[in-house]
Amino acid sequence: MDNSDPNPEKPLDFIRQIIAEDIKSGKHSAPVTRFPPEPNGFLHIGHAKSICLNFGIAQENNARCHLRFDDTNPSKEESVYVAAIKKDVQWLGYEWGDNLFFASDYFDRLYDYAVELIRLGKAYVCCLNAEEVREYRGTLTEPGKESPYRNRSVEENLALFQAMKEGQFEEGSHVLRAKIDMASPNLNMRDPVVYRIMKVSHHRTGDKWCIYPMYDYTHCLSDAMEEITHSLCTLEFEDHRPLYNWFLETLHTPAHPRQIEFARLNLTYTVMSKRKILQLVTGGHVADWDDPRMLTISGLRRRGYTPASIRNFCSEIGVGKKASWIDMGVLENSIRSDLNETAPRVMGVLDPLKVVITNYPEENEEEVEGKNHPQKPEMGTRFIPFSREIYIERSDFMEDPPKKFFRLGPGREVRLRYAYFVTCVSVIKDETTGVVTEIHCTYDPATYGGNAPDGRKVKGTIHWVSAAHGLNCQVRLYDRLFAVENPDADKEVDFKEHLNPDSLTILKDCVVEPSLAQAAPGSSVQFERQGYFCVDVEDSEPGHPVFNRTVGLRDSWAKKQR
Ligand code: ATP
Ligand code: MG
Repeated sequence: MDNSDPNPEKPLDFIRQIIAEDIKSGKHSAPVTRFPPEPNGFLHIGHAKSICLNFGIAQENNARCHLRFDDTNPSKEESVYVAAIKKDVQWLGYEWGDNLFFASDYFDRLYDYAVELIRLGKAYVCCLNAEEVREYRGTLTEPGKESPYRNRSVEENLALFQAMKEGQFEEGSHVLRAKIDMASPNLNMRDPVVYRIMKVSHHRTGDKWCIYPMYDYTHCLSDAMEEITHSLCTLEFEDHRPLYNWFLETLHTPAHPRQIEFARLNLTYTVMSKRKILQLVTGGHVADWDDPRMLTISGLRRRGYTPASIRNFCSEIGVGKKASWIDMGVLENSIRSDLNETAPRVMGVLDPLKVVITNYPEENEEEVEGKNHPQKPEMGTRFIPFSREIYIERSDFMEDPPKKFFRLGPGREVRLRYAYFVTCVSVIKDETTGVVTEIHCTYDPATYGGNAPDGRKVKGTIHWVSAAHGLNCQVRLYDRLFAVENPDADKEVDFKEHLNPDSLTILKDCVVEPSLAQAAPGSSVQFERQGYFCVDVEDSEPGHPVFNRTVGLRDSWAKKQR
């Protein structure tokens, strides 16, 4: 697969500049990066930014990027998430080869490092409870207080830490803390917890451990053990960098990776934390992690996004140091421009209205030839059955149309795409409701293929499907999951209050060209004039596709905001 950067000429971002300088100066012969997800949920579009950055840098340098599961919190982690994350990274087009790691694989070595910290007099077992630890920590404006357990002897600490490991203490009764500086202006340096007791089974190590290392401690050491050169993380870890460096310097690790922070992706009309996405799933607000309205990688895939469109999006937004918001329209544009190139055009009627062509012989049927892509003859043509009864889009007919309406109305003539000109001669309505149930037209046989030999013009061209041949199917229209730009803006209001009640519309009576009976699950088409749709991989059955609308032809939200 060609997944190289679509725009290799653009200037290097600040991280790539640093890496290029490190190679030029001989500090490193090649970068080694890593993508370190915690397996506590499915990946989202924010993770895609990090994946494209880390794996992209490796690819550009013919170097390696590790996939490391950061599985230090057994209470929230599960192996289903591990499998889902691997699938998503591969689907995006990246390979880790032999470089698949788990922080839990390092538990023994991490324990040994902790023992070394104690021996160096740089860690101690503290018996303050969680609340006391918090109290003693101080605030941004006040220094912390030293724990009464801070000056235990090395021997005592070693014995207590061993007893922690052996399960002799209850959860919360003891922690191992690094001995740094309770007066540091950086709260992360005020004797942070290194190990805590958790009597919980781990998805990989089972019941072997009842103490688990903390993230900050684990992460830098895992990076060092894997000899990562550049450890790329999001801005909120900037304040943790001194601690990252402290552990590596204190423990004299064989490698000292450089942590570099970049701005995380924030996208309008969505929430991006796995914790919040989990609430949407467990609360039944969406069908599952891969609900096509979700900005998870699996949701985007099911919605019809391609790996290339997501990589292009990540390339376009770039990597910087300043926090910023990206408009959802930018992501939607990336799939729109991808599918504009590749999706075959077909006709599909979402809200059918029957049209009887009264002068078309009842026993006749024929085929008209349609282009699969108007600008790409190499994508070929197809034959579309045409007959006396067809369906058109209900919105393409108006009984009393205004002047600017160029589609069908009583006495008006339009072109049926690729077929004939038709003129509306009468309208049939339901007597009680007054709803139009059928319209009658005549056609001009001389306009076969959609052109009038006498040069007469029609202003409108509409799509249609032959009633006798069309394939009935379900189509699902998706809209943005949230109705407001930033569902998280007001901390007083639960983000779920901002869910868009109209984010899902299920249309059950759609009719599409019969050629689509064979459409492969996961494949995409453009329904002319309607948007891009993909064949749902879960709910489609052979001969009976179910379509998900990926995106409309235009950005309808941009209009709403004006
Ligand atoms: P979440 O709160 O969604 O769970 P996280 O940062 O806790 O996010 P991890 O699984 O720990 O999730 O993240 C793996 C990697 O992805 C980290 O390096 C993290 O910095 C990066 N990442 C997560 N969210 C974003 C984002 N919105 N933009 C860029 N990178 C991100
Ligand atoms: Mg996390």
